[in-house]
Amino acid sequence: MTPLVAKLIWLAGVVGWFVIRYPHQRRSRRTPKRLRADRTRELVLMTISSTGLGIVPALYAATGFPAFADYTFRPWQAWLGALLFAASLWLFRRTHKDLGRNWSVTLEVREQHALVTNGVYSRVRHPMYSAFWLWAIAQALLLPNWIAGPAGLVGFGTLFFLRIHREERMMEEIFGEEYRRYVARTARVLPGVF
Ligand code: SAH
Repeated sequence: MTPLVAKLIWLAGVVGWFVIRYPHQRRSRRTPKRLRADRTRELVLMTISSTGLGIVPALYAATGFPAFADYTFRPWQAWLGALLFAASLWLFRRTHKDLGRNWSVTLEVREQHALVTNGVYSRVRHPMYSAFWLWAIAQALLLPNWIAGPAGLVGFGTLFFLRIHREERMMEEIFGEEYRRYVARTARVLPGVF
């Protein structure tokens, strides 16, 4: 494991994520919606998140900027990052399969929206966000730079903490008691912890 290989693994992870998401993104555009959260706010949050998970680390991987924030590369750290990125992609794929047509990139409710509580949704109610957290941690481990590494944690963390309450409130408005019961028996992102 070398710094270059670690950067390439990071890149492969991001490409893998696009490949998994692409067909769902296409189908999502064709699925009718009945409720949409504030679009501008959602777009700002997604821009912040993709800056931290995509733009800042891509710039670092391509140019080495910001080099002043580099620290000593540790192969074991990058191996752990690679492992977590693989776990993230596995979970990401599963969440897309389980959510199916109910998925949307911003907060939306479909005309025929079903509350998914099976598969990876049976113990955790935001497993797709768990997958993004895994990605952000993997990035921090793969890139030995104090800015480009943790940028994903900051970027995705901003989206997560400013979205989660609204998402749960929206789901509760639509599904009422069914959602409250689901909340009572599940964790948000990590079973038994949060
Ligand atoms: N927060 C979830 C889903 C992210 S995608 C996760 O992390 O796995 C966001 C969209 O998914 C929202 O617009 C919402 O309509 C939908 N959604 C979230 N949880 C859902 C569930 N349990 N069943 C069906 N749709 C859900």
